Amino acid sequence: MFNDLNKKVAVITGGSKGIGNAIALRFAQEKMNVVINYHSDEAGAQAAVDEIRKNGGDAVAIKADVSTETGVKALLQAAIDNFGGLDVWVNNAGMEIQTPTHQITLEEWNKVIGINMTGVFLGAKEALNYWLDNDRTGNIINMSSVHQQIPWPTFASYATAKGGVKLFTETIAMEYAPKGIRVNNIAPGAINTPINAKKFADKSQYAETQSMIPMQKIGDPEDVADAAVWLASNQAKYVTGTTLFVDGGMTLYAAFQDGKG
Ligand code: NAD
Repeated sequence: MFNDLNKKVAVITGGSKGIGNAIALRFAQEKMNVVINYHSDEAGAQAAVDEIRKNGGDAVAIKADVSTETGVKALLQAAIDNFGGLDVWVNNAGMEIQTPTHQITLEEWNKVIGINMTGVFLGAKEALNYWLDNDRTGNIINMSSVHQQIPWPTFASYATAKGGVKLFTETIAMEYAPKGIRVNNIAPGAINTPINAKKFADKSQYAETQSMIPMQKIGDPEDVADAAVWLASNQAKYVTGTTLFVDGGMTLYAAFQDGKG
């Protein structure tokens, strides 16, 4: 338990399923008040709200597109209106499009960058302005990926966005550290969520991904949520501008296992 999180207010983007959903439920275990953003899956977001309320916490579900200013402003407003402020902002929403780079359309490219990278900027800007205007502090957690580091052919837009998120996190962590605001990044490896549902339904693809992980295990959304709750808490009070890899060792180059190479 992280007692300092009790009654703190968090916004989580893309919280209706997958990693964002697990973070919302984990934050609720700390009795935080949670704004769960969803884009299309209202039922998923509402189910999370219901579960949190059933367990004595509080949450609201808010529809918003994080790649728009009106969307992120609605999320901040919901935090203020329902819970009186904001302490933690988790930029988790993301998506990917697989296309050879010479064939991806500008529209597809802009969509991936808009949600995965510009959405992070917009969310962070909203949170920063709120804390600065109200003479408060808080912390931001951005959901990057191992692909901020590992190149990913046919997913250039996604890898570019996540690489951008890494440097954005480091830059604003430095910019706002003197104000007592922390900004960190989580880089998940292969996690069993809807984004990977099609791939992992194929046994051979599941096994192939598993073989790229030294711990030989696909991660669970809760593994990422456990990292997020620590970063959000005061136990990480001296941690800013870092990327916490939650990847079972995927970034350690599993191909070199047993002295190969
Ligand atoms: P997911 O598909 O289960 O969830 C993504 C969420 O983002 C969904 O709730 C979706 O509705 C939301 N979203 C998409 N576009 C949006 C928009 N315009 N506005 C608001 N919300 C929007 O996937 P996930 O695996 O839970 O992914 C969560 C984050 O973790 C993403 O940023 C993803 O890139 C990152 N990530 C996931 C993995 C993995 O293996 N699952 C690995 C590395 C990084």
